[in-house]
Parts: sequence; C-alpha cells; structure tokens
Amino acid sequence: MIQLRGEDGKYLRIIDYKSSSKNIDLNEVYAGLQIQLLTYSDAICKEEDIMPAGIFYFSLLEQMLQADKKISEEEIEELIQKNFRMKGLILADIKVIKMNDNTLTSGSSKLVPAAITTSGSVNEKWTNGVSKEEFKILQDYIDYIIKQIAKEIFSGKIEIKPYYKNGKTPCEFCNYKTICGFDTKQNKNSYRYIEKEAKEEILQKMKKKIQK
Ligand code: SF4
Repeated sequence: MIQLRGEDGKYLRIIDYKSSSKNIDLNEVYAGLQIQLLTYSDAICKEEDIMPAGIFYFSLLEQMLQADKKISEEEIEELIQKNFRMKGLILADIKVIKMNDNTLTSGSSKLVPAAITTSGSVNEKWTNGVSKEEFKILQDYIDYIIKQIAKEIFSGKIEIKPYYKNGKTPCEFCNYKTICGFDTKQNKNSYRYIEKEAKEEILQKMKKKIQK
C-alpha cells in the first residue's frame, strides 16, 4: 500500500503482487467475488480519510520474450517493462495518473493501465479507470455486499452455489468435490452465472443496490 500526496490531499494506491496474470473484472466484483483489494482500499481510505488512487495487480510471472527479428538490448528492456505493466483499476484523473507514473506526458503508461492523449487529457479508450463518483459507487457497493454476505451467513443461508464464468467454475480444481456433493445432474444444484456486462451497466446495477 502506498500513499501518494497530491495538491488536493492524500491518495492511496494498493498493489497486489501475483504469481499469475490477473486483472480486475467488475462483473466479478458485482457477484461478490473479486472484492479483496477494494475492501482494503475502502477500509483504509475511510480510516485515514484519504482518497483511492487505484488498485493494481503486479504479475511476478517471468514471461518468455518473442521477436521475429534480432532486437536490441533497449528493445528487450522495453518488452520486459511492457510485460510488467500493472493491471487493475485506476482513478481516471489526470493528476492521479501522473502521480502513478511521473514520466508519462502522453501515450500509454508503461507502469499502470492508463493513457494520456496528446492534448493532455485522460485517454478513456486506453485507460482502465473509473471517475471519483464511480469509485465511490464501488466503495459503497463493497460495503453493501460484505453486509449482505454476513446477513446471509447469520440467517443460515449456506447453499452451494459455485460461480460459472466463461465456461469455467472453481469446481474444476477443487479437492472437496466428494465432500460438498455439488452435482448439477443429481441434486438440483445450479451455478451462479456471472454475466459479462460493460462497466457502465455494472455500475448502474451497483448504484441501484446501494440506493435500496
Ligand atoms: S466442488 Fe464444491 S466445494 Fe469445490 S468449488 Fe465446487 S461447489 Fe465449491
């Protein structure tokens, strides 16, 4: 966790070092799955009264470089850096992007998932970001979903409902299949399907939930 000092106050950046290549998927956040980093961010921002600057994944995977011609050491260096570009979600604010990458003046950042146009504004197309208001929706939703999960546990709702996303489920690699007995053919069990919706639609759905 790193605090960044801006002209208008302090910001928090959280980086999770992973041994795999991971990115944030708001569809999963909506389903209550990928909430770890947003939970940390929300808790610290509230406790310390600071603003979220982003949540990032840094992949520690060593990747094999490929080139179809002889390349220079500088080009190799550039390719390595590209492979280590962080994924995640950034606050789409020009000064926050520059705080995260103080060498960036225009184009795509080599460090964070953000880009700046030649006129100096946030390049929305190449930035995986949310506005301040949208970050607030995410934080409020995290608060909502954690309370929701706790309520369900306390009320005894512990149904077996593994997720199903893009043809994948956690059951594929699970060692507890024989214990939980999940079987869509025999026990009328069913998956919790995770839809694939655009950021704007998910944020709208989150907004409706937190306004209830
Ligand atoms: S096999 Fe059972 S315990 Fe394992 S992930 Fe699937 S539903 Fe959960």
